[in-house]
Amino acid sequence: MTDYAREEHHEFMPASKAALADAPLQLALSRLTSTLMTANRRGFASLQGSDAVRDQAKAIKEHTLANLDRYLEQLEASVHAAGGAVHWAADAEAARQIVKDIAWSNGVKRVVKSKSMTSEEIHLNSALEAEGIEVTETDFGEFIIQLANERPSHIVAPAVHHTKESVARVLGEHLNEHLPSEPTELARAGRRVLRQKFRDADMGITGVNFAIAETGTIVLITNEGNGRLTTTWPRVHVAIMGMEKVIPRWTDLPVFLKLLARAATGHPLSVYTNLVTGPAREGDLDGPEEFHLVILDNGRSRVLGTPFRESLHCIRCGACLNACPVYRRIGGHAYGGTYSGPIGSILTPLYDSVVDNPHLPHASSLCGACQAACPVRINIPHMLIGLRELQHERKKNRWEDLAYTLSRRMLQSPLLYRWFTWLMRIGLRLQSRDGWLSRLPGAGSAWTLARDFPAPARRSFRQLWSRTCAGEK
Ligand code: SF4
Repeated sequence: MTDYAREEHHEFMPASKAALADAPLQLALSRLTSTLMTANRRGFASLQGSDAVRDQAKAIKEHTLANLDRYLEQLEASVHAAGGAVHWAADAEAARQIVKDIAWSNGVKRVVKSKSMTSEEIHLNSALEAEGIEVTETDFGEFIIQLANERPSHIVAPAVHHTKESVARVLGEHLNEHLPSEPTELARAGRRVLRQKFRDADMGITGVNFAIAETGTIVLITNEGNGRLTTTWPRVHVAIMGMEKVIPRWTDLPVFLKLLARAATGHPLSVYTNLVTGPAREGDLDGPEEFHLVILDNGRSRVLGTPFRESLHCIRCGACLNACPVYRRIGGHAYGGTYSGPIGSILTPLYDSVVDNPHLPHASSLCGACQAACPVRINIPHMLIGLRELQHERKKNRWEDLAYTLSRRMLQSPLLYRWFTWLMRIGLRLQSRDGWLSRLPGAGSAWTLARDFPAPARRSFRQLWSRTCAGEK
C-alpha cells in the first residue's frame, strides 16, 4: 500500500501516478465500482417514478438550505425537548474540543465509533487518542483501515482498496493468528474483537445521515448493525453532523431513504435504518444516559451564499465516485482530502482552500457521468468549472493568460486561424508515425504521457467543405 493511503495532504499528480501503477488497487477499484454501478442501475429500475423522487429530494434540499437557520433552531429545540444536548461547532477544532469535553466530564476511557465521514473531516480519532482515549472503529471496513493506519478511500466503502487477502493479513497481524482469506471467516473474526469493544465502551460516536427538525430524531443508515450497538450500548452517545444534514419533517425522510441505499449499493433500503431521538427514556430497555448532538459548520455557511451551495445537497451516497472514470482509475487516496471523487473535488477546495488544491477541480473529464448518477441531481460538472474559474481569478497564471490572449486573437482573424491550423497540421503530420503521435509538443505533452494522439487529417474540414461546395455547383 502506498503512503498516500496514510497522508492526507499531498500532491495530486504523483499520488495519481502511483495509484495507476498499483495493480492490486486497479483490480479492487474496477471490481467494486463496476459492481456498485450495476447494482445502482438495478436499484433505480425497481423504483417507480424515480425521476419524480429525485426532483422531490432536490426540492426538499433547496427549501431546507433557503431556511437553514430556522430548521437548525427547530432541530435544537426538538433535541432539547427529547432530553438531549446540542453543541454548535464553528470549525474542526471547536468540534474536537466539544467531544473531548464530553469525554472528560464523563470519565470516558474507551470509545466505539460507527462510520462517520464528518468525524474523519475533523480528525477526531487522533485528537481523542492524544488524550489517552482508546478509539475503535466498528464498521468492518473502517476497522480494517484503522488497523492498517490508512484513510477511507470511498465514502460508503472505506476499504475499497483492500482485497480479501490484504484484509486477512491486516486482521491476522492484529490478532496474532493466521486467518484464511475467506469473507465469512474474516467477518467472524472481526465480530469477535468488536463485540468485546462494544461491551467495554463508555462512549459511542456516530455520524448523522439525516436529522429531522420537527422531532429532533437523527437517522443513521448502516449495513452491519454496528450503528445500533454504538448508539445503545455505551452510556454516552455523541452524534456529529454537518449542518446541511437537517431535513424539515418526518415525512421528508422516506424520499431520501428511497434514494440513498439505491444510489449507494442498489438496495431498496439499507439493512439497518436507526432512528434515535434523545437519550433512553424511563422504561426503555436500552439506550444511552446522555445524548449529545454536535452541529458542525467548518466552512459550510461560507458556501451557502455562493454558486456552490448545491454541493450542500450531497447525501454522501458515493454514486458519483463509482460513475467517475477518473475515480475508477485512481481511487480515493489520490484526491488527498477526506472526501474523494467528483464531489470531493468540490468539497475539499471549498472547505479547505481553492488555491491549495489546484488539481482537484481539473480531475474530471466533465463527461457528466457524476451528475447523471447523483440521486439529488447535483450539477457537479458546472461547479467544477466554477472552481476552475475561481482558481484562475485568485491565482493568475501568466502563461495561461498569454495562451488565452493568443487564442482569442487567432479566433478573431480568419487569416490567422487558417495560417495557424495549416502550420499545426503540417508540423504534426511530419512528426506522426502510422497516423499517430506518441508525443505532443509543449503543454500538449501531458496528453501523450499515457496515450497516443491521432495525427491530423491530410485535408482540413474547411478544404473538404469548399471541395464539396465546388462539386455541388
Ligand atoms: S454528489 Fe450526489 S452522487 Fe455524489 S456522493 Fe453526493 S449525493 Fe451521492
